[in-house]
Amino acid sequence: MMVLTRKMIEIRSILQKVGQSTSLTLPSIVVIGSQSSGKSSVLEAIVGHQFLPKGLNMVTRRPIELTLVNTAGSEEEYGEFPDLGLKRISDFSSIQRTLTELNMAVSDADCVSDDPIHLTIHSPNVPDLSLIDLPGYIQVVGQNQPLELKQKINELCDKYIQPPNIILAISAADVDLANSAALRASRRVDPRGERTIGVITKMDLVDPTRGASILNDKQYPLRLGYVGVVSKAPLAQGLFNLGPTNLTSAIAKHEKSYFSSHMLEFGPDAGVSVGTTTLRKKLMYVLEQTMSSSLQSTSNAIQQELEEATYEFKVQYNDRPLSAESYLAESLDAFKHSFKQFTEEFGRTQMRDLLKSELDQKLLDILASRYWNRPITDLSLAQPEPDHVADLPKAEPNSVYWRRQLDVSAASLTKLGVGRLATTVVAASLQSHVEKLLDESNFATHPFARQAIIEAASTILNERFYSTSDQVENCIKPFKFEIDVEEREWNQGRQHVGEVLKKELSDCEAALIGLEASVGGRRKIKEVMSFVDKARKGDIFVEGDGRSGAGGFSASLLAKGCEAVFLRDRADIIKMRLLAIKSNQCSSVKNKYYCPEVFLDAAASKLAATAVLFLNVELLSEFYYNFPRELDLRLGRHLSSNEVEKLAREDPKICRHLEVIRRKELLELVLEKMDSLRQLEGRDRDRMAGG
Ligand code: GDP
Repeated sequence: MMVLTRKMIEIRSILQKVGQSTSLTLPSIVVIGSQSSGKSSVLEAIVGHQFLPKGLNMVTRRPIELTLVNTAGSEEEYGEFPDLGLKRISDFSSIQRTLTELNMAVSDADCVSDDPIHLTIHSPNVPDLSLIDLPGYIQVVGQNQPLELKQKINELCDKYIQPPNIILAISAADVDLANSAALRASRRVDPRGERTIGVITKMDLVDPTRGASILNDKQYPLRLGYVGVVSKAPLAQGLFNLGPTNLTSAIAKHEKSYFSSHMLEFGPDAGVSVGTTTLRKKLMYVLEQTMSSSLQSTSNAIQQELEEATYEFKVQYNDRPLSAESYLAESLDAFKHSFKQFTEEFGRTQMRDLLKSELDQKLLDILASRYWNRPITDLSLAQPEPDHVADLPKAEPNSVYWRRQLDVSAASLTKLGVGRLATTVVAASLQSHVEKLLDESNFATHPFARQAIIEAASTILNERFYSTSDQVENCIKPFKFEIDVEEREWNQGRQHVGEVLKKELSDCEAALIGLEASVGGRRKIKEVMSFVDKARKGDIFVEGDGRSGAGGFSASLLAKGCEAVFLRDRADIIKMRLLAIKSNQCSSVKNKYYCPEVFLDAAASKLAATAVLFLNVELLSEFYYNFPRELDLRLGRHLSSNEVEKLAREDPKICRHLEVIRRKELLELVLEKMDSLRQLEGRDRDRMAGG
């Protein structure tokens, strides 16, 4: 028979994992009593150890759901707090400390908490039992205690003493039973006294005749009867140091000597139950019976829960199976697949375009500083009117001035650190593509995985960064000495730089319009611009640095005026240069000194093309090869199943899906166990009936 309680306790712990459901309660023994009625002493006598919080002001503030597991055949005794992940604590004073701390953690404002502490004790000396220790009833609220404490304790106890639980009502013999808070509470929920066991403690404190009459009480008759105990060990101190069974056996010995010295009142013929040993047996028997009779109803309740979970699974998740592992594996595969597709779309051409457009910007800077940002009259090379260029050399092939200009410009281009620039641009682009793929993947909602993937990419790219930069820089070295542009390249450059200049022109124009709007219209900006123009030509004398208040314009307006003048001049020059590039003068590489834009563009293209050859080998291929492997390392087999679970559950939708499946599986498991238990029960009954 005793298998039942044990199996049911097992089932109970599985059900605890199912969580959230309140309807799935297996019967347990709930221990209630007034403060100081001897409740803790009784529990400790059953467990055989002092482990409950004690102390003057120590009120239990959370229910302790105590599961006792008999480990016959093993010497070891230990406690576990499964919710805290604390395992195999064999020092019971440490269990006591933990319980005390958990109690203290409940704030005064909350008084008591109904969140139970789960504690399991494994020992060869305990019976299989499940007991719930509740805060003791208080009569008068103490000085340092919150006023609502009494009320809250009553409410908490009421919650637990509901069926199918068994009530262990503790009352002290030296207090009139009519004043027993435990019996009063029990009567309210169990008026016929069908599921209450009365325990009368401190039997040694009353006259034996009186003690015996309490146990025979007719005023509060209980079907399960009363048991009288003397659960105070004779040696209250120093018991931590005694052997494991000593508390139980010390109490048993003490009780025996007490009760047997009053045979008349407590002997076999007296018709009363006494002693902790008797109480233990009674608890086991009653719990077993209750479990057995609630087997069917619990099984039905579980069946119903299961049906609900199954329905939810079908309706909301289309019966789609899912595990954290499969989810992660599929997500990773899908991500790797999308990455593979990306690798087919992003190659040399894309790298070259990226790099080229970066160089286009550098080119504009160089052109501006070497050619365009000078006084307009300097730009003799494309000016048809000779009177503007009186004191400047003509841009002829053998003009030293213009040769030098172009040489220096070309050097600025080849020496701007193409290796580092190219590597940075490509690496940044790869990184941002990875992030884009991530955003479109399952991992978008998984911060941990997202982080892992981004790090995987940056680790590889960082590792390759310096060597790639160096390689690229080395391979473009020859261009630092000479750049040979062929006609074909010239024509392509001429075409391309035209586009670049047009774009720059439209950017200038757009910026100008933006400025106009920001100062409140075209008229206003024109006014400021003409003031700036005059000031520049020296027609107006501007005091000080000319920045603030000059011409009646505010400093910020003047700054905008200067910017507008700059943009206008830049646009004018670009228009002029666009004409020049289109003109016959720029039709051949032979006239490169007339057309620095075209020559430098062709040079930039050569740099980009060469750089890309090496980027492809040093960076791109390496990245394409290593990235999927790095992903496997970080998100594959190396993760523990806990980590996988945690990762999958980061997505609330997946978490709910997994939760439903887990619940369903746990309930199925429980039901299976219950079924086999019922069969076992049936067989037992048949055998009993047959025998
Ligand atoms: P709780 O507040 O209900 O948990 O009560 P305790 O178990 O802490 O007991 C209150 C006091 O009564 C303690 O000082 C115990 O030593 C004492 N006590 C408990 N049971 C007995 C008993 O059977 N006989 C005697 N004489 N004292 C007891």
